Amino acid sequence: MPDTAAAYKRILLKLSGEVLMGEQGFGIDPATVASLAQEVKAAKESGLQICLVIGGGNIFRGMAGAAKGMDRAQADYMGMLATVMNALAMQNALEQINVETRVQSAIRMDTVCEPVIRRRAERHLAKGRVVIFAAGVGSPYFTTDSGAALRAAEMNCDALFKGTSVDGVYDSDPKKNAAAKRYETVSYDKVLSENLKVMDASAIALCRDSNIPIIVFNIREAGNLAAVLAGRGTSTLVTAA
Ligand code: UDP
Repeated sequence: MPDTAAAYKRILLKLSGEVLMGEQGFGIDPATVASLAQEVKAAKESGLQICLVIGGGNIFRGMAGAAKGMDRAQADYMGMLATVMNALAMQNALEQINVETRVQSAIRMDTVCEPVIRRRAERHLAKGRVVIFAAGVGSPYFTTDSGAALRAAEMNCDALFKGTSVDGVYDSDPKKNAAAKRYETVSYDKVLSENLKVMDASAIALCRDSNIPIIVFNIREAGNLAAVLAGRGTSTLVTAA
């Protein structure tokens, strides 16, 4: 793992929606969002430019709706709206601790936030603002992982940090197999060919094609983002080699 604090100038941080619910089984826990905001603030104060993408799984997932008989595309639009709620919650928490932010949504809702405009996002980053990209790619049948990969590519991010509730990529599900092994480094191709649970295939392929390293780590552990950014902490690096 490189000394990331020095190696990276601009990162994309992807947070799964479920980390926003804290110990609850659903929704947004303001105290948890506040502590996540502190981690983002610390990362920003280390000199990084930060793009943020937050999932919506704590509120609604299109696949879950479809499994219960809903039209998939309709359910996916609901999932995308959930990510906007999470983005607004995170914006609120960041601004309460004096971190300037802008939310840009891939589904236009001009009274609530900005639309995604790449060059405008560039200006925000240059001014030291955190840009939160909401609504994924703006289309059904995608996930916020694909949204994160897309924004990481178009914003020329040096790396995509995926903060989730596991501490890396394993050769099998660590929740089901006590002998599961965590990779320190694993290639995009191995992730794709062995269908390892990192991000969906389209997100991995986009990162591979744009040569964006992915760092998977546990964001639920307090202080872990800073540790991982400094090249310490437990994580898995997904890269070409
Ligand atoms: N979604 C979508 N297109 C996108 C991004 C998200 O349709 O570009 C929908 C999809 O239904 C997904 C939901 O929004 O299940 C929430 O996002 P995701 O499951 O990626 O959230 P996470 O697992 O990261 O919490």
